Amino acid sequence: MNDNSYSKILVSWYEKHRRDLPWRHSSDPYVIWISEVILQQTRVAQGLAYFNRFMARFPNVCLLAQASEDEVLKYWEGLGYYSRARNLHEAARTVCEKHGGVFPRTYAGVRALKGIGDYTAAAIVSFSYGLPYPVLDGNVFRVLSRLFAVATPIDSTEGKKTFRRLAEMLLDESNPGLHNQAIMELGALQCVPRQPDCPQCPLIYKCMAYAEGAVSAYPVKQAKAKSRPRYFHFFHILWGEYTYLQRREAKDIWQGLYQFPLVETDGPADFTDLQQAEDFRCLFQRCGRLEISVRRQNVRHVLSHQVIYATFYSVRVEQEGEGLRSYLRVPAADLPGYAFPRLLQNYLQECPDE
Ligand code: SF4
Repeated sequence: MNDNSYSKILVSWYEKHRRDLPWRHSSDPYVIWISEVILQQTRVAQGLAYFNRFMARFPNVCLLAQASEDEVLKYWEGLGYYSRARNLHEAARTVCEKHGGVFPRTYAGVRALKGIGDYTAAAIVSFSYGLPYPVLDGNVFRVLSRLFAVATPIDSTEGKKTFRRLAEMLLDESNPGLHNQAIMELGALQCVPRQPDCPQCPLIYKCMAYAEGAVSAYPVKQAKAKSRPRYFHFFHILWGEYTYLQRREAKDIWQGLYQFPLVETDGPADFTDLQQAEDFRCLFQRCGRLEISVRRQNVRHVLSHQVIYATFYSVRVEQEGEGLRSYLRVPAADLPGYAFPRLLQNYLQECPDE
């Protein structure tokens, strides 16, 4: 059963407090889609710059579809979760090739596009078309878990069902777009993860967690799986004015992005250990004399399920040996034109050249 009393309070609060953001001036599903995917990656302050750059270069879905994957990834560089950018590109192609450049108008049609999950589909169809689908993102989970003091973990199967039921119950079906934006904004500005400003909250008299004096106990999450450590050794190789790159093609992190030749080891390895590794010997086979220096050591880089420990070596080679020929040889001055993962971007900023 619907209870619109929450929605009325939320919408009236939203109309006074909402941030003025560019995508809020549009009901174009393409604009909503791009903004939502970018905002899943980053905070609004940083996302805004990405959104503006992306929209200036790809102002409509067909221009995005026509671009190369390398270019799309370059515009995504630094945001992380690069599979989302590749999915965005593939979905844009589907919209252009199968739907004549017109976004599907139903929830099922939008949800069927590559990379669009329940949350993004609900945001697009409710904001753009006013269809009654509730959004459930991290902010909404937090608000609902506190409002109703739900002890079921938000990341459990049972939790997902419980929160969906609550979200459906609160949705004002006559005004779903504004309702969804209001509850998300309350989570972003008011019901924040740490030390929410409850005395100023419009829902304080309805909030069960506040009544229990237990706001910080919600939301409940399952124990996190341990992150897998990985040990990367990158070689910034210089041969005259050239350096070497490789595009990551495997189904692994950073697919489609570029990196320096890499040797991965099962555990921590110093240079003596590395020299014994088969991959290292193949890489520098017949390269003549090597001038090697360590540029950065054990840089810790945290991803969602992995922690990378990276060491960067600078290696000047006497000649281009066989092992290097399978890599992309590029003028060192052209490096800024390639899309790199954040870890390598940081390295290049700190150590631009030898
Ligand atoms: S009263 Fe506090 S905990 Fe409850 S919804 Fe408002 S901000 Fe969140």
